[in-house]
Amino acid sequence: MSNVHLELPGSDRALLRRAVHAVEQQLSALPGHSTLDAYRAAAADLAVSWAALCKLLALGEAAPLRECPRCHHLGMSTATLCGYCWLRLPLLSAMTSDAKPASAQTASERS
Ligand SMILES: [Zn+2]
Repeated sequence: MSNVHLELPGSDRALLRRAVHAVEQQLSALPGHSTLDAYRAAAADLAVSWAALCKLLALGEAAPLRECPRCHHLGMSTATLCGYCWLRLPLLSAMTSDAKPASAQTASERS
């Protein structure tokens, strides 16, 4: 068995690698443009590549956090134990409505 890592063309990782490579190439080529118009066109292409990379990353919303009432470290809002002092945290349903994740909100709360 060889030690070659197979990466199928069109796989998520291959698409990410291609998008990162495009951004890297466009970034490194930016200083080489001799005219302002060429620089602006290259910057516009770079913005398109960056947007494509961000879409592939699909980072989504940041996870909601809450502060531990004892040690004041931040942790996931859905945690039942503090990751620093191991204090048992109240359940999310016992918290105020503004601390609920977006998926738990009703349509009237989102408007
Ligand atoms: Zn704590």
